[in-house]
Amino acid sequence: MKNKDSQNELSATQQESNFFHKPKHKDMITGGNKMHTIDMDLVEMTLDVMKYTIDRISNITPEMGAPKKEEDLFRIVGETITPEGIGGENAFKLFRDVLVKATVPIDHPRHLAFVPAAPTRAAVMFDLVTSASSIHGAYWMEGAGGIFCENQAMKWLVSLTGLPSSAFGVFTSGGTAANLSALVTARETWREQNSENVGVKSLLLTSHGAHSSVQAMAKVMDSDVVMIDCEEENLTGRELQNAINELEEKDKKRLFAVVATGGTTNAGIIDELDTIADVCAKESLWMHVDCAYGGGALAALSVRHFFKGIERADSITIDPHKWLFSPYDCGAVIYKNLELAKKAHSQKGAYLDIFKDEGADGFNPADYQIQLTRRVRGMPLWFSLAMHGTNKYRQAIERGIELAKIAEEKVKESSHLELIRPASLSVVLFKRNAWTPEQYRDWTYKNHREGFALVTPTTWKGETAVRFCFINPDTTEVDIDKILDSLK
Ligand SMILES: *Cc1c(COP(=O)(O)O)cnc(C)c1O
Repeated sequence: MKNKDSQNELSATQQESNFFHKPKHKDMITGGNKMHTIDMDLVEMTLDVMKYTIDRISNITPEMGAPKKEEDLFRIVGETITPEGIGGENAFKLFRDVLVKATVPIDHPRHLAFVPAAPTRAAVMFDLVTSASSIHGAYWMEGAGGIFCENQAMKWLVSLTGLPSSAFGVFTSGGTAANLSALVTARETWREQNSENVGVKSLLLTSHGAHSSVQAMAKVMDSDVVMIDCEEENLTGRELQNAINELEEKDKKRLFAVVATGGTTNAGIIDELDTIADVCAKESLWMHVDCAYGGGALAALSVRHFFKGIERADSITIDPHKWLFSPYDCGAVIYKNLELAKKAHSQKGAYLDIFKDEGADGFNPADYQIQLTRRVRGMPLWFSLAMHGTNKYRQAIERGIELAKIAEEKVKESSHLELIRPASLSVVLFKRNAWTPEQYRDWTYKNHREGFALVTPTTWKGETAVRFCFINPDTTEVDIDKILDSLK
């Protein structure tokens, strides 16, 4: 006991002499029976930051910022990195008054471009706690309590997929890193299975609807990709089988994986996962399902049946920073057989071996994806899920799907607009009659410039179209009406 007291005394003196924060004004507070010295400057800075944070996350319609040229920003803020430092108050003021205004709040209810995001207040607040707690999320030895939180959230994600109970996953920096981690595991497993595959350039199959990161990550892996053209809108097992049959014999030997999509980013289309799983089983191919955008919809009972077959995947990508209301950045990769991921990703090194001893009793996230040192980025999701419960999440996701249906109906009723395809998940595509691509572009820029909305066009079957992607459950029908009116 005595020992522990003297340690507390020691850390108290260390606190007084924090290298970066030597208090000019200090105060004493009592916490339990322990005295702390409080650096009042630090308190003030913390209060400024908290005030900003509370204001920002309580504001449902934050100002929609717009980019400025770098030289213009520099002209306003000047050089911020100096030998003496410009001071926290000053730097924070520059951020709050100038720099953040050159960003678009991705959670604005009229931000329907790309895939928006709408982190819960609980998740944002806990993102601050995650940083403040300084947890190393690579190994259980250091990060046990934080990794426990992540794993609780992961358990729910895995349950949504219907994969067997042996399946599990890990949080990544996003869908790109999740896809790469999954495909490297697939490729390594393929090489492990047959020594003839070692040193052979691998090949994977996917559809034209697949996300650009699949091709980009194949490049990182030095794999070739064959993109399958789909007759209808989604990839089917029959088309996959035909594509395999059409491969030359030497390419068939190089084929190791199929990447199906559970909600294309452009149109919300879900591939026919069940028949794709049949083909993958027959051909002994790794089946990866990229649900980076659509994964949240696994929790939506109204659309869950469209994902039938996902429970037969070898790996799945889900981005909580898209449709599960987490702050950036947070992706997830889930494996049917976690051990295969460990074989592919576990890093070895003299200074890391210690973690494999003490930490081996627990779950080491570093073993299952491409990153070593990592933030416990699943913690904000965990806190928010723990606070609100999964039912609230299901409802919020259903609201996104409902908003897409509402927008679809409104488009059908508008004489100046033409629906291109029915709403899928939370995406709606439609045209403005007689508009050229330039008019769509000008309309986007005008809305953005005026701080009204950010909605970007896309192309569908060679034609320019307006694309709405709903995530934020606080987007209203009035928001939709106003945006549709701006197309008149
Ligand atoms: C967004 C997205 C990705 C990429 O995810 P990041 O989190 O941006 O890295 C991959 N696949 C699909 C289907 C996506 O929608």
